[in-house]
Amino acid sequence: MTNQIKNPYLKLKNNILHLEDISLEFLSEKIGTPLYVYSRANIKDSWNRYYNAIKNNNAMVCYGMKANSNLAILKEFVNLGSGFDIVSGGELERVLSVGGDPKKIVFSGVGKQEWEIKNALESGIKCFNVESEAELYKISQIASALKITAPISLRVNPDVDAKTHPYISTGLKENKFGIAFKDAFDCYKIASSLPFIKIIGIDCHIGSQLTEISPFSAALEKIIPLIKNLIDNNINIKHIDIGGGLGITYKDEIVPDPKDIVDAARFKLKEANLNHLELILEPGRSLIGNSGILLTKVLYLKHSDDKNFIIVDAAMNDLIRPALYQSYHEVQQVKARTGQAREYDIVGPVCESADWLAKNRLLTVKENDLLVIESAGAYCTTMASNYNSRVKPAEVMVDGSEYYIIKNREKLSDILKFETTI
Ligand SMILES: *Cc1c(COP(=O)(O)O)cnc(C)c1O
Repeated sequence: MTNQIKNPYLKLKNNILHLEDISLEFLSEKIGTPLYVYSRANIKDSWNRYYNAIKNNNAMVCYGMKANSNLAILKEFVNLGSGFDIVSGGELERVLSVGGDPKKIVFSGVGKQEWEIKNALESGIKCFNVESEAELYKISQIASALKITAPISLRVNPDVDAKTHPYISTGLKENKFGIAFKDAFDCYKIASSLPFIKIIGIDCHIGSQLTEISPFSAALEKIIPLIKNLIDNNINIKHIDIGGGLGITYKDEIVPDPKDIVDAARFKLKEANLNHLELILEPGRSLIGNSGILLTKVLYLKHSDDKNFIIVDAAMNDLIRPALYQSYHEVQQVKARTGQAREYDIVGPVCESADWLAKNRLLTVKENDLLVIESAGAYCTTMASNYNSRVKPAEVMVDGSEYYIIKNREKLSDILKFETTI
């Protein structure tokens, strides 16, 4: 099995892996490891794939920013013209701080708090994606007090199988997300009667790392008749938000192009005489996942009868996806070595058996070698923690032959400063 490179901007030059034109060995010397490194060119390519799908198509992209909410990355998406899907008041603050247009922000999440709803109303966001009847009453109450009308859509749970990992599947009726399909019509009726609530759309997001079009189509087939029914009952639906969820290639997955999803949605809407609806997409992972890598250094090699381990300086606190979802990330050596390869598990220093980054990889390595964990742009740094009192990694954006530190490495004093003894 060869290690297929996922980021096309990751290239060997003079036998050293570079991201765009910057040597990863150089970056580790300058900034240290573990280190998240992003490719600006690859972010732009990912955006352009979506842009080609939405242009002239009455559609917009709201970047699902929980995938990676670094300010420099958000700013990049602001400059490219993206909107944003937020899931908290903290995310709202982040995106507004880099000049994000509130009119392009949609607000999802099952547990919106009062202060978050208030801030979103006062900012003038495009839409609340409401996830329960109780939330609807809460928004109406806060909007009435502020005398600001709340534009809303209901997040409907279409009960379709996204055929992905159970932890990242959200559109089955046993999931906590959205309003049950059978209750959606009645909930819209309630919404239409509430003060300071303005219905503008319908929303669904069925899961993440989807590698097929069919679950999107299945969701549309359930939602479209509901939209027709709502319109027949004088409920004004102007947009359909089909969520995010498009997957990326971590190993050998073949994923559809954004255009395939938009075309499939447009086809179904046209068929149903609903082509006037604006289409909203909320991609996260597919806009950033393969634009980032985690650079880590080999601390020790450990050999036993059954297993060989590479112990690296990155751990589950920096990149939790393997521990959480048994997910696969490709591993590359920054400097290739010749000699007998061995099969290794790549693990971190954290005191948990779940602290692994990759299993059963054939590598020829020595202490102090650098390894690249690929596909680390999405749901990696945003899920990092300080477990084991480990500081969170620095982050760097590479742009051709330039690099910019976009997050400083935490210091131990940073993580101790909120604690006191008694
Ligand atoms: C997480 C999330 C997204 C983004 O999902 P991806 O799989 O990263 O594309 C979009 N919408 C909602 C409501 C989400 O919770």
